[in-house]
Amino acid sequence: METQNWLLKQAETQPAHIAVDDGHEQLTFADLQVRVEKLVGKLNQLNPGDKVGLLATNSLMSYQLALAIISSGRSIVWLNWRLADEELHRQIADSDLLLCLVEDSLWRATMGRTFKKYSTFLKQPIVKSSSLVATFKLDQVASIMYTSGTTGKPKGVLQTFGNHFYSAVASALNLGLSPHDEWLCVAPIFHISGFSIIMRGLIYGMTVRLVDKFRVTTIEQILVNEPVTIMSVVPFMLKKLVSQQKMSHQRYNKDFRCMLLGGGTINRSILEQCLQAKIPVVQCYGMTETCSQIIALRAQDALKKIGSVGQPLFTTQLKLSNKGEILLKTPALTPGYLNLPAKLPAKMIDGWYKTGDIGHVDDDGYLYVDGRLDEMLISGGENIFPQEIEQVYQRYPGIKEVAVVGQADPEWGQVPVAFLVSDQQYSGTELIDYGYQHLAHYKVPRRYFYVQSLPKNASGKIRRFILQQALSK
Ligand code: ATP
Ligand code: MG
Repeated sequence: METQNWLLKQAETQPAHIAVDDGHEQLTFADLQVRVEKLVGKLNQLNPGDKVGLLATNSLMSYQLALAIISSGRSIVWLNWRLADEELHRQIADSDLLLCLVEDSLWRATMGRTFKKYSTFLKQPIVKSSSLVATFKLDQVASIMYTSGTTGKPKGVLQTFGNHFYSAVASALNLGLSPHDEWLCVAPIFHISGFSIIMRGLIYGMTVRLVDKFRVTTIEQILVNEPVTIMSVVPFMLKKLVSQQKMSHQRYNKDFRCMLLGGGTINRSILEQCLQAKIPVVQCYGMTETCSQIIALRAQDALKKIGSVGQPLFTTQLKLSNKGEILLKTPALTPGYLNLPAKLPAKMIDGWYKTGDIGHVDDDGYLYVDGRLDEMLISGGENIFPQEIEQVYQRYPGIKEVAVVGQADPEWGQVPVAFLVSDQQYSGTELIDYGYQHLAHYKVPRRYFYVQSLPKNASGKIRRFILQQALSK
């Protein structure tokens, strides 16, 4: 199955509509087609094989290059600029890249022949301009994106045009579409949260408002003064925006519809603060493997079901295994991992994808995500999710950051212990007593270790398995 190239379709049907706006320049779909044709000409000259890497910030040029790569019939390999050299080179080798285009500001001295600065690439004279591929095949790989590596080594997830298409359609069926929609994209475009906005923009014919860095005052000004209707946020962004609004008392523009919140566990108190501040939040749940959200709250349920990630989107089926693991069927599911043919089949059971996350569903069919299966600890037969304990301790005065993991225990199997980032050392049983006031006794950490910082991956998620390894040394 194939569709017309989405860029060509939009350039044909609504050429004058703004496709992308970075706050300095706006490009219509017609402008974009002309620019992308030139870039495809330059790419084809280099003959870079069937995949091209992008080490990109959320810039207008990155957006155009992404479109040029897919419109030249190639797949984009998205790379995270926060990766250390060694991780970056591992992913370049894993994806067998001949060319990786690098935003000038991200250039590193250690970069070898595979890498090319945007400016060097753009200086190349065009010998022959190239037309764009006329169609996108639904089973063709549009993008390859490495998972966050929260649980181990990042894996290259293949995402087809079909995956992106079904994901975008399911989101539109949930949130609705307005011809005036403008989606703010400050989520990194090398993550599915960001790139899925670009794909929705092409499929809906919608304006994407690109922002390169999350600065809370700048974002607030955009939400107040520009016609942005939707913004994708991860928990830390929402936390900052709501505190900022408490100080500024500024109302977002009248057409603002919602914050689409996903990517990790959110503290309930932040959701309650948003409620008070009248910031509409739609929680959602998804992963790189499902091409972004597959479960989401409907806007009208957001208040009623605070804390829930909602119900399966139109094209997704959900069920829980007898252990409570979240199982999914969705046309947005990846066809597999790059170079790891056995990996996806190992995560399937009777046609269902095992997410590795644990959840529960309430009587009305709304899903709550409890945590990750591989992070869950079992103490005396009771299941414990580190996130629940961390949320409690995060509120304790002086604690900046906290991570909980399980430590082997001869009596209970495992007991929770906490790693704290704090300027102060707490005395005696102070922290244990605090825990007893807020948590069942078996959930209260037995030991507290003070650390300078917590190990995190390039997306800012805590890598608990590293703390676990430290305990067993
Ligand atoms: P890796 O698979 O390499 O360990 P990762 O799973 O962290 O990394 P992503 O695909 O970026 O990589 O993240 C998806 C995961 O994020 C989900 O499986 C889930 O654990 C978590 N997540 C996403 N949305 C939510 C949410 N709304 N609430 C709680 N957790 C969420
Ligand atoms: Mg994962």
